[in-house]
Amino acid sequence: QVVNYAPFTLFPSVVPSALFEQAYAVQQDFNLLVDAISQNKEFLEQTLASTIKVDDFTAQLFRIHMQVLEEGLAQSVFLGINRSDYMFDCGADGTPALKQIEINTIAASFGGLTSRTVAVHGRVLKVLGKFQEASRLLPNNPSKGLALGIAKAWELYGSPSAVVMFLVEEVQRNIFDQRCVENELWNRNIRVIRKRFRDVFEKGSLDDAKRLYIDGQEVAVVYYREGYVPKNYDQQNWEARLLLERSRAVKCPDIATQLAGTKKVQQELSRPGTLERLLPGHAEAIARIRATFAGLYSLDVGEEGDRMVAAAIADPDRFVLKPQREGGGNNLYGEELRQVLEKIRDSPERTAYILMDKIKPQPTINYLLRAHNPLQASECISELGIFGVYVRQGKEMVMNKAAGHLLRTKAIEHADGGVAAGVAVLDTPYLV
Ligand code: ADP
Ligand code: MG
Repeated sequence: QVVNYAPFTLFPSVVPSALFEQAYAVQQDFNLLVDAISQNKEFLEQTLASTIKVDDFTAQLFRIHMQVLEEGLAQSVFLGINRSDYMFDCGADGTPALKQIEINTIAASFGGLTSRTVAVHGRVLKVLGKFQEASRLLPNNPSKGLALGIAKAWELYGSPSAVVMFLVEEVQRNIFDQRCVENELWNRNIRVIRKRFRDVFEKGSLDDAKRLYIDGQEVAVVYYREGYVPKNYDQQNWEARLLLERSRAVKCPDIATQLAGTKKVQQELSRPGTLERLLPGHAEAIARIRATFAGLYSLDVGEEGDRMVAAAIADPDRFVLKPQREGGGNNLYGEELRQVLEKIRDSPERTAYILMDKIKPQPTINYLLRAHNPLQASECISELGIFGVYVRQGKEMVMNKAAGHLLRTKAIEHADGGVAAGVAVLDTPYLV
């Protein structure tokens, strides 16, 4: 076992306060939207139809989703924990605009560790004699906010002796982030267990009422910190996933909500009329959501897809090419984007991807502190994430909140990748 400190910036990074507030103000809207998508069978079916023909992983998730619906949902309490990520796009006149990169609906991480970064950056500023500036750093405690959502779902499940199960990776690289949330639950007298898919396969079972048991303990809430990339699954793990999804336990997220977070769904949301169809009667929320959208384009077979492929091949630096993957390091840029598109332009394979306008933020200077790396000033760009938490019981939303934020910063030479991918580091916003 090796323990390293999590990477972080030496200084907090400047964030425009208007954009920061805008990101917080739209979070409850995004919670509503994700929840609405997860309940809309037809929308998911239509939107993912082309993708699941060519992407086996999405297809497998979708099959489980359909199977669970056909059997009838045993779950009646729903818990969503997501993180909506943004960059500050620098317009031609130099004004920054808030643009969504993506929304993570499964295993959104770093809410725990980032609950500690304010203290780190406050201390650095004080060492520099900048007490006034240190006092302006905003408090931020997503681990508490996430735990309050989990605790609410646990309470509504209604079995005081049942536990919360964190579904964790085979090799646990980010355990301390998870422990921050776990500690908040123990503080509220809620028992937490940590299990892998393998444990569920070997020791998990459902009773007649589809209550989930593992090692003889009833599980009220399953909080996934695993299960979002193909390499998390072998045949046994898929069976374990199916067992969990069929159960009455509150899954965070259920498989429909995981599908709501795919890049393909994100692209379809940007089509005129889609938000209106998903959130009827929510004109103001729709306007707030839409204001954060960058240009997103389908590569489905047809005239529209042909046109976008040609545009991207002609000007690859305008775009990012994204497959249906999570976790960083999967997107294609520049020359590589052009080469891949040239190869698949006439093949249905291209429908596994979406195309997105590339966001171009104004770089700033910072030091990225990472174990075993030399210390040097770098030109950096930042990505702001807002954590969203909601709980629904039947048809009724009983909690809908923004639960804190995460700022990640990386050197501009890296086009892609988050903290877990070894590219970005933890940061704290300094609002101006
Ligand atoms: P993942 O699910 O792998 O996290 P993202 O959509 O978040 O996929 O992309 C990974 C990273 O790539 C982001 O953190 C960001 O640094 C970069 N990125 C993604 N989309 C864009 C974009 N439209 N413009 C500029 N950079 C982007
Ligand atoms: Mg991301």
